Amino acid sequence: MRKHIVAGNWKMNTDLAETQELIDGLKKINKTSDAEVIIAPPFTNLYTAFESLKDTDIEVAAQNMHQSSSGAFTGEISASMLKGVGIKTVILGHSERRAYFGEKEDLLAEKVNAALENSMKVIYCFGEELKDRNFGEHFEVVNKQISQALFHLDADAWKHIVLAYEPVWAIGTGETASPDQAQEMHAFIRKTIAEEYSKELADSITILYGGSVKPNNAEEIFSKPDVDGGLIGGASLKAEDFMAIVNAF
Ligand code: PGA
Repeated sequence: MRKHIVAGNWKMNTDLAETQELIDGLKKINKTSDAEVIIAPPFTNLYTAFESLKDTDIEVAAQNMHQSSSGAFTGEISASMLKGVGIKTVILGHSERRAYFGEKEDLLAEKVNAALENSMKVIYCFGEELKDRNFGEHFEVVNKQISQALFHLDADAWKHIVLAYEPVWAIGTGETASPDQAQEMHAFIRKTIAEEYSKELADSITILYGGSVKPNNAEEIFSKPDVDGGLIGGASLKAEDFMAIVNAF
């Protein structure tokens, strides 16, 4: 059986005190599902989050990192710096990184390599824009986003990759892909990986859905056979809402 994961992407929200408060809230709520739980606070709060959660089964991830190991890259953070504060998972390729910071597949491939070289797990995000879907090009766009950033990897490296399909038109908009639209794309992603590698590998990959997942729609989305969890933005900033989504499995 594939691993279920629910990950919270806090984006540029929460100062240190708010991080502690949110974590305290999360710890108070019982997890009743089999999903692995990950939270991704901003860089400044990673160490505190890691220390506060190290005796729990909630994992802490970073939202981004630089592809180089060190050097003159003012304002950037490397994989080894993340590892130094206990972080072993990184989100890469989020649509906001693509849209506002110009991140494209060639750069993301380098970041993926840097993460894997440092034995980190990658949550690789991708998804089409509304115009792509309107032109009927969503499968093609997603195929390119996956193949150009990940298909140079050998089969073994995929043990450390989690995919997150996040249609850009559904992120922070209150509009979700319908459970059937999510299932259709997740099945397409699995087929694409099966064609490049093997069915066995494709069947082993955890594929998350992201984009306006809330407590009231999580259960239906997670009930789809190829949806193995969620990447949650807005609703991950309230402990009750986030844990309700975790417990929707
Ligand atoms: P949202 O964000 O849940 O607020 O739509 C999802 C994401 O950006 O990962």
